[in-house]
Amino acid sequence: MMRKLKTFRGGLHPPEHKERTARLPIEDCPLPEELVIPLSQHIGAPAEVCVAKGDKVSRGQLIGRARGFVSVPVHASTSGEVLAVEPRPHPSGKWLPAVVLRPDGADAWGEAPTPVDHRELAPEQLRELIRSAGVVGLGGAAFPTHVKLSPPPEKPIHTLLINGVECEPYLTADHRLMLEESARILTGIDILRRVLGARRVCIGIEANKPDAIAHLDEVCRGTEVEVAALAVKYPQGAEKQLIAALVGREVPSGGLPMDLGVVVHNVGTAAAVADAVAQGMPLIERVTTLTGPALVQPKNLRVRIGTPLRHLVEVCGGLKVDLAKIICGGPMMGAAQLSLEVPVVRGTSGVLLLGEDDKAARAEGACIRCGRCVRACPSSILPTTIAAYARLDRFEDAERFRAMDCIECGCCSYSCPAAIPLVQAVRHAKAAILARRRKL
Ligand code: SF4
Ligand code: SF4
Repeated sequence: MMRKLKTFRGGLHPPEHKERTARLPIEDCPLPEELVIPLSQHIGAPAEVCVAKGDKVSRGQLIGRARGFVSVPVHASTSGEVLAVEPRPHPSGKWLPAVVLRPDGADAWGEAPTPVDHRELAPEQLRELIRSAGVVGLGGAAFPTHVKLSPPPEKPIHTLLINGVECEPYLTADHRLMLEESARILTGIDILRRVLGARRVCIGIEANKPDAIAHLDEVCRGTEVEVAALAVKYPQGAEKQLIAALVGREVPSGGLPMDLGVVVHNVGTAAAVADAVAQGMPLIERVTTLTGPALVQPKNLRVRIGTPLRHLVEVCGGLKVDLAKIICGGPMMGAAQLSLEVPVVRGTSGVLLLGEDDKAARAEGACIRCGRCVRACPSSILPTTIAAYARLDRFEDAERFRAMDCIECGCCSYSCPAAIPLVQAVRHAKAAILARRRKL
């Protein structure tokens, strides 16, 4: 008898659209003529620039210093000349300070990266190497990894979960990384486990990637790392939903995974941790999926941070229809972009390019009280009630109905037959609640 796959409550099954790139090996993207490297690519304080126009920099050189504990440094993605330090279009939709770099073609390191044996280092030394390499969560959240690796003493970590779910439609970068670069991931897991002192390590992968599950099962045989197949359901890869599926417990409202003794890191983050420690390399590149019906030749690409999307589109053979929508990330949680001048940042897990025919434009109607949004909500909150309060600017009531527990997965909007933009309304309520808290 087949065992039921683990999962969480709520969620839905959007079309996967992964067939375009799931079988395509990772390719190295050539360098563009100009890199735009934002000083803010992570949650927390932006880095403070430490180069100026006209400076020559080497690959991996520090160009932005971390400002405070919840911040990370930024490094040059290749060698070249600093053309400007100025505001440029950013994936957040704003113009933010960036170091504009003209590659010199040599791609030369200043000092060659120094590999170290992580087994000879203490946890605090490992944490410092990870921090100074600028490692952040590569699943999309871009939260500084060293912060997640610094739980307070009263919250010991017993379980390290590695997120190989990649439940967003279209995206396949993590899938390919697990198939092609599992040694990096396993080294990173070893380092993360040592820093946290976790007893249990489990890699969670959706069952729609049987080749990745089989491969990681094979390479983890004889180690203490478990590999768990999970039901195919969106948003299985969200942190709280992954914990619910693999640990069988719910992160309390307003709490953090570390309250349960659990820390979650993405497979790409584990690989970046291995590079930072075992290779001595800062985070200056990542694997990302370039995809969508508007693109001639979708690809999984290893891309230098700061590469403009326009260059990636050229590398993928250009566009076959007029571009109607650009999304960084997947279609469910990704952010719409205003132009192809936006660069790849550390959190860019994918770029989705849609034509006019691919845009799901539905006219908004009245709520028919069908309850689909409530059933789909993985956070077990009432999206329609919170959205109604948000529209009336009754944010205290929205907070009372646990608006802050919303993970912005978009399941409510996606499932609504009346096309009511529920997630946008809940997001608006969250922003207002946070603004009010800051004033108190
Ligand atoms: S209310 Fe938030 S958590 Fe719930 S379905 Fe909507 S976006 Fe997801
Ligand atoms: S899914 Fe849409 S129509 Fe149905 S209850 Fe929720 S808001 Fe109303």
